[in-house]
Amino acid sequence: MLKIAIQKSGRLFTDSINLLKDCGIKVNNGKDQLKVAVSGFDAEVLFLRNSDIPRYLEDGVADIAIIGENVITEKQADVAILEKLGFSKCRLSLAIPKGHNYQDITSLDGKKIATSYPNTLTDFLNRHGVSASIHRISGSVEIAPNIGLADAICDLVSSGSTLFKNGLEEKDIILKSEACLAANKKSLEIYGAQISELQFRIQAVLKGRNNKYILFNIPNDKIEEASKILPVLKSATILPLMAEGWSSLHSVISEEDFWEVIGKLKVCGAEGILVVPIEKMVI
Ligand code: ATP
Ligand code: MG
Repeated sequence: MLKIAIQKSGRLFTDSINLLKDCGIKVNNGKDQLKVAVSGFDAEVLFLRNSDIPRYLEDGVADIAIIGENVITEKQADVAILEKLGFSKCRLSLAIPKGHNYQDITSLDGKKIATSYPNTLTDFLNRHGVSASIHRISGSVEIAPNIGLADAICDLVSSGSTLFKNGLEEKDIILKSEACLAANKKSLEIYGAQISELQFRIQAVLKGRNNKYILFNIPNDKIEEASKILPVLKSATILPLMAEGWSSLHSVISEEDFWEVIGKLKVCGAEGILVVPIEKMVI
C-alpha cells in the first residue's frame, strides 16, 4: 500500500494534515502512532521526524512525503520533487551580530559558523571559495554568537524576528525553501497511477487556494473594458440583470493580483463586487 510520510509534530504537521484533508484524505487520529490508516484514499500515513524523512523516502520506507525542500537538500537525498506546496516558506540564511563588518561572503573566511545545516553550508562556502570552520549544533543556533561559540550563524529564517531578538543581521540567503511533495523514485513507477491521482488532487486544492471567484455588476457598455482587466480562465460569464442596461460579470482572479484588479474594476464602473473563496479548481 502507498505510504505517505508527514512530520510527526512541528511546523509542517497542521498544514500537512489540512492539505491531505482538502484532498479528501482523512487521517484517522494518530496520536502516538507511527502508522495510521486513512479514509478516502488507498494509502497509509507514517508520522516521522522531519529530519528522518528524506532518508526513509530514499530507502523506500515511505513512497511519498510532505517535507521541506531544505531538509532534502541538506540530507542530499536522491528523491523526486513533484510539487511545491505553498506553505512553510523559509530561507536558509547567514547572519552575523549587528554592527559587525560584512562586505560579502568572503568576510567569513577563517571564521566560525554555527549551523544545523552543515552540508548545505559547506557546499555554499565551497562554491564561493571561502574556508570557515563549521560548528554543527542541532537547535537554538541563534544564541551561538552571544555565547561566544561562533562569529556567524547559518539558520532558517521566515519573518526574521528570531534573528532580531538575538541581535543578529541577515546577510546572505543560501537557499529558499517551502514544503513540497517528494517521492521515492522507484515508487513513482510502482504507484504511478495513485501518485498522479494525489498530485491531481493537490493541484486542484492549491489552485483553489490561490484563486478567488469574483462577481460584480457593470453597465453593459463597460463590459468590454471590464473583461480586459480580468485575467480570465477562458472567458468571463455574463448574466443579464433585471435592471435595464446592466449585467453581472463572473470570473476567477488570482490571489496575487487581487487588489490591483479590484481597484481597476472600481474605476471602470463595477458595483457590488463580491469575492468568494474557491474550494477546488480543475482546469
Ligand atoms: P524534527 O521533526 O526532526 O524535530 P525540526 O525540529 O527541524 O525537525 P521544525 O522546527 O518543526 O522541525 O521545522 C520543520 C520545517 O519547517 C523546517 O525544516 C523548514 O522546512 C520549515 N520552516 C519554515 N519556517 C521555519 C523557520 N522560521 N524556522 C525553522 N523551520 C522553518
Ligand atoms: Mg524539532
